[in-house]
Amino acid sequence: MRRTIRFAFVAILTGMAALAGVGAQDQPATYIRAGKLLDVRSGKILSDQVIVIRGERVESTGAASATTIPAGATVVDLSNAMVLPGLIDAHTHIFLTGEDNGRYDEQLLKESWQYRTIEAVVNAKRDLEAGFTSMRDCETEGAMYSDADVRNAINRGLIPGPRLEVATRAISTTGGYPLEGYSPEVTVPSGVQIVDGPVEARKAVREQIKYGADFIKIYSTHKSHFTPDGKLFSQPTLTLEETRAIVDEAHREGVKVACHAYGGPGLQNCLDAGADSLEHGLDMTDAQVRELVQKGMWYVPTLYVYEGDTRKEDEAATGGKFSRASVHEISFKKALAANAKIVFGTDVGPFPHGTQAIEFEYLTKFGMTPLAAIQAATIHAAELMGWADREGAIEPGKYADIIAVEGNPLDDIKQLEHVKFVMKGGIVVRNDFAKP
Ligand SMILES: [Zn+2]
Repeated sequence: MRRTIRFAFVAILTGMAALAGVGAQDQPATYIRAGKLLDVRSGKILSDQVIVIRGERVESTGAASATTIPAGATVVDLSNAMVLPGLIDAHTHIFLTGEDNGRYDEQLLKESWQYRTIEAVVNAKRDLEAGFTSMRDCETEGAMYSDADVRNAINRGLIPGPRLEVATRAISTTGGYPLEGYSPEVTVPSGVQIVDGPVEARKAVREQIKYGADFIKIYSTHKSHFTPDGKLFSQPTLTLEETRAIVDEAHREGVKVACHAYGGPGLQNCLDAGADSLEHGLDMTDAQVRELVQKGMWYVPTLYVYEGDTRKEDEAATGGKFSRASVHEISFKKALAANAKIVFGTDVGPFPHGTQAIEFEYLTKFGMTPLAAIQAATIHAAELMGWADREGAIEPGKYADIIAVEGNPLDDIKQLEHVKFVMKGGIVVRNDFAKP
């Protein structure tokens, strides 16, 4: 019922706009003076450019000397800045606010979906202000379909936030996801939708798409530990038959499948079933890397989240010998050398929202060029999301999703951790350059 009313309302507004003859060409233009502009496709840095924005889209870009700015026009002065397209984080969790010290269980057991949605709104705003104008949010961790509401509210201009593609609930099997460790006599919520068997798996995909999923997220491995000889054992969840049912149903409905997998048979199932992106991929064999590349599967490594405390914890548990971060580094380097389609994603949520640009440091530390890392977070991420026609570069016809930093990120990738200007869809979200 609610849905019918909403559609009717949108139809009335659209009709009114058509009657009034309001089109993009009638909207006033905004002119950005860019001292330096990074062309993310070529890596070239262009000096003294003007970006013309009309409505929510880029109309043109060109040399300042060749562009006339009309008197009285809205001008954003970024003449002392380096301008580049808005960043895209292809693996986020706006419904997570830390995971340590029982925080994950607390969120699921003590916070209502409504409260968690308020947290998600705040997190999405922080990510946007840090320069992430689009994100692929990889499930709500027990908050059901609330991510679809956050996405819709952002799209309708009710709240600030990045353009979102959302996974809704994600899918795993019985025993394949938290909450865990409670008595069998106590019913506790689950961080995902649990399915057993291909029929339930297919039905879950249908339900999630019905209630707003833009893509399907599956957990193909669950718990992991190191064996005494240093192998990372990753507990597989869905069978190949179940995974195939999920991928088939999602693709039948025109939706991609993101596969969380660390390694082993769970990861192999995602390759064999033809999932679209591999998330994390900590421990890939050479053959798996070859298959990933040959199948053109996207790889979203999320390096940083396994560093820091996690590396220390793992090393403490294995007597300093092994860590998920160290095997991950090896897999990532193999995938990079094999020319895998790497996309920027961070898993932000377990660590604070708005700080995820630190991932660039690890991508480059482990061998990516700064330009390749920026491409992973712009043009390549846009391709993974199916949005290459509308974002990922500052080009005529694309959304005016634009950020600026002080220095050259090709020389100093940490510049991206200090984004000082953010525009999304032609609207300035943040401009520290304008501050006295
Ligand atoms: Zn994740």
